[in-house]
Amino acid sequence: MKTVPTPNQTEGRLSPPRVIVIHSTEAPEGPLTAENVANYFAQPSTKASAHVTVDNNSEVRSVADEDTAWAAPGANSDGLQLELAGYARQSRKDWLDDYSLKMLQRAVYVVAAWCKKYSIPPRRLTRAQLRAGEKGLTSHADVTAVYKRSDHTDPGEGFPWDWFITALREELEGKPKTTATKVEEQTLELTDMVPVGEYYASLFRGEKYPLSFVLIASMAEAKLAKHEAASARQEIANLSAQIARVETLIREKETRPQSEASGAFNGPSGP
Ligand SMILES: [Zn+2]
Repeated sequence: MKTVPTPNQTEGRLSPPRVIVIHSTEAPEGPLTAENVANYFAQPSTKASAHVTVDNNSEVRSVADEDTAWAAPGANSDGLQLELAGYARQSRKDWLDDYSLKMLQRAVYVVAAWCKKYSIPPRRLTRAQLRAGEKGLTSHADVTAVYKRSDHTDPGEGFPWDWFITALREELEGKPKTTATKVEEQTLELTDMVPVGEYYASLFRGEKYPLSFVLIASMAEAKLAKHEAASARQEIANLSAQIARVETLIREKETRPQSEASGAFNGPSGP
């Protein structure tokens, strides 16, 4: 993990880490978000910090676990502060898009290491439990509500706590991940499906638009727009294979007698 030291911290702790506080950076999602936020924390004038900031491809440490970050007044002295690339205004869907899933998976590794190191159970505390001094995970919003020493409400209502706690438990128990696949289904977008359906429909109307290139390019571009170069390449590979299969079926249909070819065809269901 990269480290960008900050003067905005207090050496040592008043009490051992008890809570892991989840924040959103409120900065644009990108491959350098964690680095940028850490550089911001490194400026003396910022007067704020976190232990670790995570984006889709890295974790950057600003404060050692043994020292006190300035992040969530009320839960600084016994808190481990984690900044996640994203905005408190994000919906659940935004938090589970390709970029955020990569980021969240990294966050799970960071939090799992803290849970082991400080015997913190992988659970989200209720406000009553937070107030009562119990161990677990919390949000800056709940720290604000309980201690009333700041007005921040991150990481927001849309944050997928259920996904995060499930992924964290699976990580700690060494179980195979169920979260990644579940999320992939949820985030498949209708707009991604429409061009695929149109493409198949045009093929079976007997039209011969050279749509395959347009389709592949637009699907890949949609992935690239979400900073997903690897997914874009995979998309090209998947769609090329799929289109090749359909084109084989069409050639077979064209070479068969009309009566046989008119039977119902249930085409591939899309990616
Ligand atoms: Zn915060």
